[in-house]
Amino acid sequence: MRSITILGATGSVGASTLDLIRRNRDEWRVVALTAKRHAGALAALAREFGAELAVVSDESALPELREALAGTGIEAASGEAALVEAAARPADLTVAAIVGCAGLAPTMAAIEQGGTIALANKEALVSAGAVMTAAVARHGATLLPVDSEHNAIFQCLAGNAIANVRSITLTASGGPLREWPYARLRTATPAQAIDHPNWRMGAKISVDSATMMNKGLEFIEAHHLFPVGLDALRIVIHPQSVIHSMVEYRDGSTLAQLGPSDMRVPIAACLAWPGRIDTPCAPLDLAAIGELTFQAPDEDRFPATRLAREAARQGGAAPIVLNAANEVAVAAFLAGQIAFTDISALVEQTLGRDPPPPPQSLDDVLAVDALARARTAEMLELVRVA
Ligand code: NAD
Ligand code: MG
Repeated sequence: MRSITILGATGSVGASTLDLIRRNRDEWRVVALTAKRHAGALAALAREFGAELAVVSDESALPELREALAGTGIEAASGEAALVEAAARPADLTVAAIVGCAGLAPTMAAIEQGGTIALANKEALVSAGAVMTAAVARHGATLLPVDSEHNAIFQCLAGNAIANVRSITLTASGGPLREWPYARLRTATPAQAIDHPNWRMGAKISVDSATMMNKGLEFIEAHHLFPVGLDALRIVIHPQSVIHSMVEYRDGSTLAQLGPSDMRVPIAACLAWPGRIDTPCAPLDLAAIGELTFQAPDEDRFPATRLAREAARQGGAAPIVLNAANEVAVAAFLAGQIAFTDISALVEQTLGRDPPPPPQSLDDVLAVDALARARTAEMLELVRVA
């Protein structure tokens, strides 16, 4: 039996993970489950899986959580410090599935325990970058990528030396607005932006897929996970989302990983690694899919991948600023305060401000994140729709 903690248990990745755990109940002992504020949903999961501990990061949700867990013996806690403490409880596997830089401190706490971390929370790695990868090395932790593209690359690299890699290609569906002309993009509503053709995901990553910032963040994520150099990292649009990414070797061989557009496939690969387990996903039916197509990204209509590549080249604090500005802008878009095309514009404007010094520690990363958020919030006031 292995022990598992899920940070962000009530979200889309959390639900997919728990679906797999539910099918293999006798193999897992659940240590901690966390959520932002959905106390009722969290308590139900904690009861079902017999968790030791349930944590809501929002303190106002604690009374409801306590009440829902009364008499179960499951500990209830709240607040940022409790979230970090939960992540620091020993577990064989920690699934980092919080959305945003909010997941960084708990993910770092899990890394410091030296266990295995299945990382979905790309914003944490994009922001902390070398601070996180250095902590992984220092504490002898293992980072398994949950993100479908990075999990694909991880699988395509198995048994190969990174020195033999010529290039890595991230595939991108292009999102629901892929065919929209620029003038129409300005009018895209949150509902249209979230309506992803291939994947059902949380609201934030769905908007990121529509702007292509998801691929931008993934470009930086890949840069840290697979050190082949920025010039060897490519992006190609592949609307069917069947090939999840590819690795090209020096001899001209390209390995690709294919699968259904269901996060349970990469999550299962992490849960079972280095083995394999069954998933309930429908097998890939290539004859029914018919064709796989590819096209180059259009960075005039979707500038986010260009911004991410520039931030990655610049290094230091730039990726933190990119991510923080994007988080603030996406939240404003979802709240109906700004237009779709303002998201990338705000990120670009925030990146254009004086760069903060390169971060050396987790505290430095969090300080840059807070500064960039404040700067974007300031600029937001200027573009807010009435
Ligand atoms: P989601 O919005 O569905 O769930 C997020 C989870 O984090 C919830 O449990 C929520 O309660 C918790 N949370 C949110 N804000 C928090 C905060 N400030 N403090 C503490 N907890 C907080 O998101 P998701 O779609 O499951 O995505 C989670 C992460 O996985 C993201 O980084 C996303 O980019 C990545 N990811 C998701 C998918 C997918 O298919 N959903 C695919 C690849 C990568
Ligand atoms: Mg992805």
